Amino acid sequence: MNHAATNEHKTKFDIDKIRADFPALHQKVSGHDLVYLDNGASTQKPQQVIDTIKTYYERDNSNVHRGIHTLSQRATDHFEAARVTVQEFINAKTDNEIVFTSGTTESINLVANSFGRAFLSAGDEVLISAMEHHSNIVPWQLLEQQIGIKLVVAPIDKNGNFLLEEFKALLSPKTKLVAITQLSNALGTLTPIKEIIKAAQAVGAKTLIDGAQAIAHTVVDVQDLDCDFYAFSGHKIFAPTGIGVLYGKHDLLDQMPPYQGGGEMIKVVSFSGSTYNEVPHKFEAGTPNIAGVIGLAAGLRYVSEIGIENLAAHEQALLDYGTEKLKSIDGLKLIGEADAKASILSFQIEGVHASDLGTLLDHQGIAIRVGHHCAMPVMAFFGVDATARASLAFYNNFEDIDALVAAIEKAVDMLR
Ligand code: PLP
Repeated sequence: MNHAATNEHKTKFDIDKIRADFPALHQKVSGHDLVYLDNGASTQKPQQVIDTIKTYYERDNSNVHRGIHTLSQRATDHFEAARVTVQEFINAKTDNEIVFTSGTTESINLVANSFGRAFLSAGDEVLISAMEHHSNIVPWQLLEQQIGIKLVVAPIDKNGNFLLEEFKALLSPKTKLVAITQLSNALGTLTPIKEIIKAAQAVGAKTLIDGAQAIAHTVVDVQDLDCDFYAFSGHKIFAPTGIGVLYGKHDLLDQMPPYQGGGEMIKVVSFSGSTYNEVPHKFEAGTPNIAGVIGLAAGLRYVSEIGIENLAAHEQALLDYGTEKLKSIDGLKLIGEADAKASILSFQIEGVHASDLGTLLDHQGIAIRVGHHCAMPVMAFFGVDATARASLAFYNNFEDIDALVAAIEKAVDMLR
């Protein structure tokens, strides 16, 4: 396949211009031009995001909501405007359905500790899938220990496809929450999320979508999905670390008790008791990550300008090209070949340990991730302890894939 032609055919944005926006991409690692293929773990940040954060600290830095002075008002205006940017990005009905958290992990823990402890009881079932990240497994296991809920796991097939019929067979009136990833970080599987939500609703279960990976690769419209909760992290979508979002339907958030106590989440505090602020502030105790929130909005604006559909089409072309190229490597086995996939190429090579491969690729300037990807159960399902994972972003190009393949071939020659 002629990669230049493929690139031209599929890419509806100027990739060189895009790459120029990301300073971290333009450096040498081990004497080679960096090829960054670890976007599933964390993405690089465009200059626009970096500048927004810098400007905030240089001009507007102050605490939000409480101040009467100009800087505090400016910080508050930027902070609350960012909430609207997030609302628009995921098409939530109102901005008070957007709760700022430290990331997907905290968003899921918020649901487990607030919704879970208030509305679930012993014997109630939380249904997840066999390919969840640890952050969508362990919070439910904690609830199992604490209040006796039951964790039920929907199966996948040997290609990593989510098995919709088998999932439906596990649903019952006991199912109170379905918590499923939209895009598996370990396999790249896109789950049939709309069908999952519909089926969950048919038995009266609430739905929580782990959008940590999906947010940067697919259009997310929470009203169209009709999910109850949607969780994602800023750092996976070209924004800072330490900031994330929990979307929740307003009525549900309103009924849920606070998750943490402290400043900002209260109306009145006295020693005889306290009353709580409105949503979303009820869930945002303490000084928030103001720069992170403002940086998140800048990242979302950047992505919106390119258009998720455009970047997804480019990434799909890269994924198809990479899949074909990797499969041509002797002894390489892809882990995760679902019918619907995005952005992730997870693989093993016969006779080569993933961590040795990762190290040798780093020596050639290529950043991939090796390990269990915080998804040990799915690794166990495939009978492996680790995979090598190349994960794509829209700033990757076909040359990156060619460099990866050439570096793997070189590394394999050295290791075998
Ligand atoms: N869920 C999935 C599918 C992920 O890929 C990740 C991170 O890799 C997480 C949850 C947790 O995200 P964070 O560490 O940003 O909270």
